[in-house]
Amino acid sequence: MIDFLIIGGGIAGLSAGARLSEHGTVTVLEAEDALGYHASGRSAALFEEGYGPSSVVALNKASAEFFFTNDYLTPRGLMLVAKSDQAEQFRKDLSELGMTEISVADAMVHVPVLNPETVAYAALSEGAYDIDTDRMLQDFARTIRANAGSVLTRQKVTRIRKDGNWLVEAADVFQASTIVNAAGAWADEVARMAGIAPIGITPRRRSMARLPAPGGHDVKNWPMMLGAGETWYAKPDAGKLLVSPSEADPVEPHDAYADDMVLAEGLARYEEMVTSPVTRVETNWAGLRSFAPDGTLVLGPDPSDESFVWSAGQGGYGFQTAPAASRLVADLALGRAPELDAAMVSALTVSRLR
Ligand SMILES: Cc1cc2nc3c(=O)[nH]c(=O)nc-3n(C[C@H](O)[C@H](O)[C@H](O)COP(=O)(O)OP(=O)(O)OC[C@H]3O[C@@H](n4cnc5c(N)ncnc54)[C@H](O)[C@@H]3O)c2cc1C
Repeated sequence: MIDFLIIGGGIAGLSAGARLSEHGTVTVLEAEDALGYHASGRSAALFEEGYGPSSVVALNKASAEFFFTNDYLTPRGLMLVAKSDQAEQFRKDLSELGMTEISVADAMVHVPVLNPETVAYAALSEGAYDIDTDRMLQDFARTIRANAGSVLTRQKVTRIRKDGNWLVEAADVFQASTIVNAAGAWADEVARMAGIAPIGITPRRRSMARLPAPGGHDVKNWPMMLGAGETWYAKPDAGKLLVSPSEADPVEPHDAYADDMVLAEGLARYEEMVTSPVTRVETNWAGLRSFAPDGTLVLGPDPSDESFVWSAGQGGYGFQTAPAASRLVADLALGRAPELDAAMVSALTVSRLR
């Protein structure tokens, strides 16, 4: 009999599993051949403390120490750029993200391909970091195994029943006292299987293109660039440049792929702000960012059955919030007092949506 059966082998499931494995037996079930196959393998891997609604920012802040202590972060920086007709949006983003305005000339010292004819405003934040997301996933999985837990792939859950304990059918059958639903875009589907009311998770597609370094520049130390209003972003990645149209199109849960038209329009928005044209897209992909109706995470036991615990709705913040979110999931599942303040806990727990 398993104490905590986690459904989903992405960052949400593995981080919650690692925390809970200190307190009971944990088994993680992942449908795919590999961990992190869906959203967790397709992210931009950025930590920016000010990015997201207030309850997300609280989780980001509470996660920072864990990231630094475990050496998961490398300085990246974030640069906001805007056209002359985007002044209002620029000011709004600047204050929300707590950035410092710089001149376009200074911005061009950081990113020499910026086009001074179209970029009218620029701002910089030093507090943005690349996250070593792959190492995070592997380290959490290793912690679970070191605490005598199991992390199993090719175990797609197809049926869930309750007969005193939970009986969960995948490639094998598992019996558990508590289920943790960390199924990402499929979280509502898993809830329905268990006879728990869904919470209204909407998966939203976000596409990404990998381009050769513009103009042959060494992009290693460029900051991530963000178009005002989050209409596109570009981020150096292993000597190349990732460009995203930043779309948030609602879709059904599926193995996501980039939409060619959306990608082309997003690349055009990026291209307008630089002097180096996009000549070639080396590869592209998409991932699903899954949101609850109010846009923030859904963590902890369901009020209708405390043995069904949610870790869902990570949206575009699943990595940067994982250290604190997983701690909160464990605290609530174990009936311990959370470290986060009460208002933030209420904004993150399931009751707010019922
Ligand atoms: C393009 C893009 C950029 C992003 N950039 C950032 C960023 O810079 N910083 C950041 O913090 N976040 C970012 N995110 C968000 C982050 O990637 C997600 O919030 C996070 O990966 C969600 O993790 P998850 O474990 O909930 O979901 P997933 O990684 O999707 O994991 C859920 C898992 O559940 C499994 N599953 C589903 N149903 C079943 C079933 N029935 N049985 C067994 N297994 C099942 C799935 O196979 C899947 O592997 C980005 C996302 C995208 C798409």
